[in-house]
Amino acid sequence: MNNLKRIGILPCSGACNVGMLSTKAVVEILGEHENTDFVCALGLPLGIESIIKNGKSSDGYIALNGCPVRCATKALESADIPINEEVVITEKFNIKKNKNLKSEEKIDQILDELKGLIDKIDKE
Ligand code: SF4
Repeated sequence: MNNLKRIGILPCSGACNVGMLSTKAVVEILGEHENTDFVCALGLPLGIESIIKNGKSSDGYIALNGCPVRCATKALESADIPINEEVVITEKFNIKKNKNLKSEEKIDQILDELKGLIDKIDKE
């Protein structure tokens, strides 16, 4: 019945405002889009076989990076997972990186961006 592509989203989950925003955004999206998967950031570069296998089970991928260090992108690349879309939150939403882990700054805009990318990948 549901022919939507499965979209894996990997948040960088960094210990700062934008890293936490990446995780919060993915948690929100998972509740709204049943065709999305939360890809575990740490297991990929560590070479954990079961996590890589799970990580490769989606049809398309979004790397959600907090900042230009782009850890989410690099984690996907480390497992040879092709990236359809990449977001860098500091640059895309003009948010300064800080240590406020409870920040909700521009979360609605980040969610809108993710929803648009999910729809875009689904139509590719
Ligand atoms: S991309 Fe930036 S915010 Fe995210 S984990 Fe890496 S250094 Fe931290």
